[in-house]
Amino acid sequence: MIISLSVPREIIEKRIIGRVTCDKCNLTLNEFFDKEQINLHPCGQQYFFKRKDDNLLTIMSRFDIYTKTTKPVIDFLSKNDNFHEIDGTLKIEEITSKINDFINV
Ligand SMILES: [Zn+2]
Repeated sequence: MIISLSVPREIIEKRIIGRVTCDKCNLTLNEFFDKEQINLHPCGQQYFFKRKDDNLLTIMSRFDIYTKTTKPVIDFLSKNDNFHEIDGTLKIEEITSKINDFINV
């Protein structure tokens, strides 16, 4: 079985650019998707930091690699009957459920 998780570039950009980690407890959240959790974080917001490589340059570089190396492989594999594309913006539990559905068919 071949599973491909598909996520729009705009969401990937927000996931990378918005990623913050608490220096005290190591929890990773996102400034775009977890605003309330960040505001209410028990360690305090001052401990959140961003990784140096979580920037637009990283995204452009990764997208370039994806376009040149990964995308052609996905295009090739997608012709198989056992190829399944899943919406990678779903929650982990939903993705797991979809994979289980494919396994149990
Ligand atoms: Zn913390």
